[in-house]
Amino acid sequence: MNDIKSVARGFSGKPRFLQLVFVDIDGIAKGMEVPIGRYEEVITEGISFDGSSIPGFQGIEDSDLTFKADPNTYVEVPWEGVAKIFGYIYKGKKPYYADPRRVLRSVTEELKKEGLTAYIGPEPEFYLFEKNGSWELKLPDGGGYFDLINLDKAREIKRTIAHYMPSFKLIPEVLHHEVGPGQHEIDFRFADALTTADNIIRFKYLVKAVAESYGLYATFMPKPLFGKPGNGMHLHISLWEGNRNIFIGEKGLSEEALYFIGGILEHAKALTAITNPTVNSYKRLVPGYEAPVYISWGYANRSALVRVPAYKGNGARIEYRCPDPSANPYFAFAAVLKAGMDGIKRQIEPFAYVEENVYELDEKKRALLGVDTLPSTLEAALEALRKDKVVKGALGEAYHNFIKYKTKEWRSYQEYLEKTEIPIDTIEITEWELERYFYV
Ligand code: GLN
Ligand code: MG
Ligand code: MG
Ligand code: MG
Repeated sequence: MNDIKSVARGFSGKPRFLQLVFVDIDGIAKGMEVPIGRYEEVITEGISFDGSSIPGFQGIEDSDLTFKADPNTYVEVPWEGVAKIFGYIYKGKKPYYADPRRVLRSVTEELKKEGLTAYIGPEPEFYLFEKNGSWELKLPDGGGYFDLINLDKAREIKRTIAHYMPSFKLIPEVLHHEVGPGQHEIDFRFADALTTADNIIRFKYLVKAVAESYGLYATFMPKPLFGKPGNGMHLHISLWEGNRNIFIGEKGLSEEALYFIGGILEHAKALTAITNPTVNSYKRLVPGYEAPVYISWGYANRSALVRVPAYKGNGARIEYRCPDPSANPYFAFAAVLKAGMDGIKRQIEPFAYVEENVYELDEKKRALLGVDTLPSTLEAALEALRKDKVVKGALGEAYHNFIKYKTKEWRSYQEYLEKTEIPIDTIEITEWELERYFYV
């Protein structure tokens, strides 16, 4: 029987609605849907909307914005009769300065002027949880790193996700169980920075949708469980001039690559505010879980902030291990690329080269190697950001929206702790965090 809902769901094969997608300051997907017949209008004139209630955007006094779609980003959701498209936001005729996609685009255009393209490959990690209507998180599987056999629902979920990835322009590369129980990772093919940022937004949507269809929740929050590994989103980065990877040197990495690392290390503290932008992010950055704590770099070393993976042929790249999936990917990429480029411009030698496990070095040895620590709270990271012109500059005018929004977030957490009499330096995961970040 043709019930009333299935008609609206429109399973006719062709999408009947077009979802216009952008992200707010937090990197959360927002948008509206229009009948597919408005496609031409959406890519030419655009569609206006009220930006007043989008987190981190306009105030109510001055909130008219326009969304204009980018036709290259059109994908069809195979099960829903809906197509999705990303776009740029305008205020009047001018690009809207706080549009995260625009912020990254300005940085990639700057690179282009120097003949360069940045390629980024992410490693997003996530947990699957059973739905049980409370914040007592129930794990559907007890597996660990690279386990293949989990006798439960989580077993085929990753394969279902991978099956649908090509419909979302994502090319799956590796699926595996992560270290935590119920924790997983799916890596997809690297692409230019803007495409990869779009891909991350699509990927999160897909993972959540598939998990939901199995009656589970997927969460990308950086540290959902105290005492268990957090969710990282390592970034593999290389710079190309036409079809030449400029990170390849005669023996190993090129000078540019090393200076790029130097730039990241120099700006590491401020970068954290953008690549790890939530209260919960800092509960992941603690010793013992393969998440970075110290500002250092090395080759095989997975306790380092920047690692140089072994590579063949054109694969020379650096792996930046700090970012987590709660980052707004557009802002994060803009900031990391600006920091790295600053390293190249100023020829910053990378300091703090470490091949041992940095967690196990004593303070004296760390000082000797020049190893500093990452900020341990969102507040400390925001403080570092305020002082760093290069990283601030990466966000352009959107910096002001970002800092205002994030300062408010920190304050609201402080108020919660006060009200509930939880110690202000608690390392446990609070309900405030779960409520705010579980669905990111
Ligand atoms: N989960 C770890 C992190 O927080 C990474 C683990 C891994 O990929 N080896 O970054
Ligand atoms: Mg991995
Ligand atoms: Mg991993
Ligand atoms: Mg990695």
